[in-house]
Amino acid sequence: MPDRKGPSKILILGGTTEASELAAILSPRIDLTVISSLAGRVSQPTLPMGTVRIGGFGGVDGLSAYLAQENIAAVIDATHPYASKISRNAELACASLNLPLIAYKRPQWNPEEGDCWIPVPDVEAAASLVNERGSRVFLSIGRQELGAFSGCNEAWFLVRSIDAPEERLPAHSKLLLERGPFHFEAEMQMLRREGINRIVSKNSGGAATYSKIVAARTLGIPVVMLERPRKHTVPTAARREDVLLSIGELFKINFN
Ligand code: NAP
Repeated sequence: MPDRKGPSKILILGGTTEASELAAILSPRIDLTVISSLAGRVSQPTLPMGTVRIGGFGGVDGLSAYLAQENIAAVIDATHPYASKISRNAELACASLNLPLIAYKRPQWNPEEGDCWIPVPDVEAAASLVNERGSRVFLSIGRQELGAFSGCNEAWFLVRSIDAPEERLPAHSKLLLERGPFHFEAEMQMLRREGINRIVSKNSGGAATYSKIVAARTLGIPVVMLERPRKHTVPTAARREDVLLSIGELFKINFN
């Protein structure tokens, strides 16, 4: 049960727009203390409002020790839909300490008329599918799993990430270091300019990177879509209002 003597302490596992939006709502409250945690994947992260810590905890044991030491009363897991390890760790750590865990995941995109999506289970499947002579591939999956494409010598790749990748890039490739949000007109221009005829994407959901999907639909470009990993076994909120409702119920707070 949450400790009601002082302000209740909440840990937000973040790195997403949704997590930052929650931090902006919850941190100014005097009845709550909020810590946002980032994995430290980008060199200059956009920091959420309030207290922020950066870097891994050291697995389930490290996270459990941190939660106990900081006297955390509840955890909100608002991490990226493809970040499944930290979510599993959060479930195990919260279960072992009997702490409330609120899982929050933005809804995925769904194909619309005109979309041509080819679902694949993982990056290896995506790599073997696009590695054909004549393929001009826009690789827009972040930088962590680019290694799966290192040996793709047939296709040409336009690789976009926020920071420079550590993995070796495919032999025929061009790197774009850019941070979203991305806008429709600019995505259209880029796809046309580079003669892109395949896109590899995560089904990230949200607005920040959706314009490439709309541009692909407009230009008739097929999208090789990486399926989302299974993240949670606990019920998962898809809307911020539902997360606030859960926080409100836990700590007897009215957000209206
Ligand atoms: P992950 O595979 O779930 O986590 C790997 C490890 O990173 C965790 O075990 C944990 O280390 C640490 N970690 C992850 N999120 C954390 C957080 N919020 N605070 C503290 N530590 C955290 O996640 P990932 O490696 O970051 O990313 C996996 C996928 O998600 C990739 O496809 C990536 O492109 C995508 N993604 C992630 C982020 C992000 O901000 N993390 C953003 C955009 C996309 P310990 O075990 O040491 O605690």
